[in-house]
Amino acid sequence: VGKVDQKNSLQKFINGDGKGYQLPQIAFAGRSNVGKSSLVNSVTGRTSIVTSDRPGETQSLNFYRLGHLLTVVDLPGYGFAYAKEMKKQEWGELMKNYFVSCRGRLKVIYLLIDSRHGLKSNDCEMIKFFVENNVKFKIVMTKTDLVLISILAKRVYQVLRELKELTGKLFPFSDLILASSYTKSGIGYIKDDIVQVEAR
Ligand code: GDP
Repeated sequence: VGKVDQKNSLQKFINGDGKGYQLPQIAFAGRSNVGKSSLVNSVTGRTSIVTSDRPGETQSLNFYRLGHLLTVVDLPGYGFAYAKEMKKQEWGELMKNYFVSCRGRLKVIYLLIDSRHGLKSNDCEMIKFFVENNVKFKIVMTKTDLVLISILAKRVYQVLRELKELTGKLFPFSDLILASSYTKSGIGYIKDDIVQVEAR
């Protein structure tokens, strides 16, 4: 795993400095604190779990090369309560630029949802955006180790029902992945799923 660039790297990446630009991409998105850094670290195989207890800290797009196969894009977290309007606007522009410039290469977005909370309103906005822009997405429910299995089952059912309403069609159960970066459950499944991208 090689990290292509760290800070505000989109332009460089687009200009071709980032070696992974021509590769197919998969991206991870989600609300701040959903467990995205931990999950990306687990999936890309970096040993140290770098986490932040300051939600909203990650403002840039991070690109990681996964061998010669593809590029993993870590999209900045959204929905932090204290975000100023300007920041939200900046975030929106960053995302829009990214989607426009990488549209053809972006194969799938994994949208992370905290298993304890289910879909929040900004997650729903995100999903509507994906639907409107024809972005293929899957759901990863994170931190499953923190939720009783009976509660988790109910939450999955509820999320699937909401996804049906948002997308206007039945959301495939196989596109909803349960994961925990702590127990590593589901991580192998996500890795396998990512590898399939090459074949798509
Ligand atoms: P991000 O803001 O979405 O990048 O989230 P982080 O990966 O920084 O995680 C936010 C908080 O959730 C940290 O305190 C992590 O230790 C914790 N966390 C992340 N993943 C898991 C998980 O799978 N299980 C548990 N119990 N906690 C997690």
